[in-house]
Amino acid sequence: MLKYSLPIADSPDVFCVNKIICIGRNYAEHAREMGHDPDREPPFFFFKPQSALAQNGEDFHYPDFSQQVEHELELVVAINKSGTKIPAADAADFVFGFAVGLDMTCRDIQKEAKKLGRPWELAKGFDGSAPCTAIQRGTLHDLEQCGELVLTRNGNEVQRGNWRDMVWSIPELIAEVSRYIKLEAGDLIFTGTPAGVGPVQIGDELIARLEGFSQTLKLRVTE
Ligand code: MG
Repeated sequence: MLKYSLPIADSPDVFCVNKIICIGRNYAEHAREMGHDPDREPPFFFFKPQSALAQNGEDFHYPDFSQQVEHELELVVAINKSGTKIPAADAADFVFGFAVGLDMTCRDIQKEAKKLGRPWELAKGFDGSAPCTAIQRGTLHDLEQCGELVLTRNGNEVQRGNWRDMVWSIPELIAEVSRYIKLEAGDLIFTGTPAGVGPVQIGDELIARLEGFSQTLKLRVTE
């Protein structure tokens, strides 16, 4: 397997991962729980390095520089070709498929960064902070067949949300990101988390799924 790649479901091929783009505050309930006005502010995004990528089933190593690591359950969109300034009406052509991922976040470090007006990379871009399932090829129409995103921690449901409740839809996100940054084959867009973010601890088992979707993300939190 190539260094930064994800399996493609039902295929011997792999999806070579290029950049990892993460959308912030894309569900009103989550914006509220983080203390923000849920009004439709323009989407904002940040990046994780490729080295943040972790394969399904790989242990998540709790970073020793944080006391408050939290899970953010997210639908991931895989991009199939290059484009800039993509109109939302054309965005569907740029979708390779989907995955379920976790935007693991050092909340204590993020809070400190917000306070100091510093970037979020230390809180968001550490090794293994982007665990992701295999990519299931599919269209936006195929995604319509899927239900809600669900995360369990040690068997208890801790996050549930409907991707249809995203403040900015997938075509709008593709249009907005590509206004500023070239999208390329291999890019992953983590589309934001619904409400219910919360802490993880060493020993936890996390299972993230999208109802009706072929791939389920499983990981164990270790030292
Ligand atoms: Mg997130």
